[in-house]
Amino acid sequence: MPLASKAEVEEAISIASAAFPAWAATTPLNRARVLFRFKALLEQHADEIALAITREHGKVLSDARGELTRGIEVVEFACGIPQLLKGEHSMNVGSGVDSYSEYSPLGVVAGITPFNFPCMVPMWMFPIAIACGNTFILKPSERDPTPTMILARLLSQAGLPDGVFNVLHGDKEAVDTLLDDPRVQAVSFVGSTPIAEYLYARGSAAGKRVQALGGAKNHMVVMPDADMDQAANALLGAGYGSAGERCMAISVAVCVGDATADALVSRLKPMVEGLRVGPGCQGDPDMGPLVTGAHRDKVRGYVDLGVSEGAELIVDGRALKVAGHEAGFYLGGCLFDRVTPEMRIYREEIFGPVLCIVRVPDFNRAVALVNEHEYGNGTAIFTRDGDAARQFAHGIQVGMVGINVPIPVPMAFHSFGGWKRSLFGPLHMHGPDGVRFYTRLKTITARWPTGIRAGAEFSMPTMK
Ligand code: NAD
Repeated sequence: MPLASKAEVEEAISIASAAFPAWAATTPLNRARVLFRFKALLEQHADEIALAITREHGKVLSDARGELTRGIEVVEFACGIPQLLKGEHSMNVGSGVDSYSEYSPLGVVAGITPFNFPCMVPMWMFPIAIACGNTFILKPSERDPTPTMILARLLSQAGLPDGVFNVLHGDKEAVDTLLDDPRVQAVSFVGSTPIAEYLYARGSAAGKRVQALGGAKNHMVVMPDADMDQAANALLGAGYGSAGERCMAISVAVCVGDATADALVSRLKPMVEGLRVGPGCQGDPDMGPLVTGAHRDKVRGYVDLGVSEGAELIVDGRALKVAGHEAGFYLGGCLFDRVTPEMRIYREEIFGPVLCIVRVPDFNRAVALVNEHEYGNGTAIFTRDGDAARQFAHGIQVGMVGINVPIPVPMAFHSFGGWKRSLFGPLHMHGPDGVRFYTRLKTITARWPTGIRAGAEFSMPTMK
């Protein structure tokens, strides 16, 4: 895959800048109509897009289709842009004075996206950005760039004018050029925390609006009164789906009481051992390979580390070989019990099929554990007790909370984002925050002195 040079990035910015005035002047209704046609094309080409995701990312086909569906939902939200841009109006804020606000597009905006959702994460950004009247430059992950090329082709077929949506392949050089160029007004980023923090600092220093979503370590608290079969099933999907390469994956199960932990481990062990692992587009596996050999080695290294740190490895997936695909980047599901907060496998994001169980004596310690962690993307509680659930939801320092829902990803018409070191910047992705992020607010206060309505005056004008 070619990586764009500084000059090529600058050319893309020039193209997006030139396309901006006409696109910003296009009525929101007509911008929405392009998106309606785009949505229909996405549905027609769903199989092609899902296959492109699976081929390059490795996730199973049904999961690839799922991520496309979540992306289409953002397009559906953006189709409502005439309603979303209506603004506010107050009559008579003073005698004969009216005040109203309107949302203007920013200009050229950029999106920089991670490998793990090559289709959905870009679609958290550009449908809303272009619906608001901006032009967009997307720098997808260099590890799975093809799905976004299909999206660009379909946008063009839907009637989007050239230059409004641009895909630029590249690495750090391309990203830094986008961050530094004064013509780029705003940058949306999703990826790992060190890069999110770097990008937020550099983009903000250059005077841009930045939203930068980072990594995660999502805890699921299991209370003693939870339905254990339900909790175990939820953990299996949330921990091992997409081989754990999800920012909303559950990577820590916090069991309140030893009896809860024992009940959960005895259920989970055979389930994790029974996970079907294989190529994402052949048969019907539960999990595909990891994205690259280097990433598989990194995750396997964390399993080695957990053993040396003294955690109990209940299921060891390190030796897994997939017949006929011996050189593939596979790792079987791994399950650790008796993980403690000082261990690195607890503190750091592993981003693979590795679930850690931490045992705590009571509810308060479970809440404290979640709150003390540096990440605050998602969390969940499994319980039958409404009071515990309510207390958890309101007291927890995390951006997205599930009650008996393991992966509480907000729908497109709500906003998505974590707290603490999982998000840099004040605004979350898509939903109402997405519209806010991609528009600039203007408030107009108007007074019209009596003029022509009162008829012509023939005497010398004086102050009245
Ligand atoms: P990454 O940080 O390595 O890369 C993300 C993007 O940044 C890519 O486009 C990449 O080309 C670019 N990039 C990488 N290094 C750079 C550098 N030094 N300077 C400038 N740009 C650079 O992330 P990844 O491995 O592709 O994705 C996995 C990470 O993304 C995980 O940490 C995961 O938690 C996170 N993630 C978070 C969310 C969320 O909503 N918070 C969603 C999805 C993924």
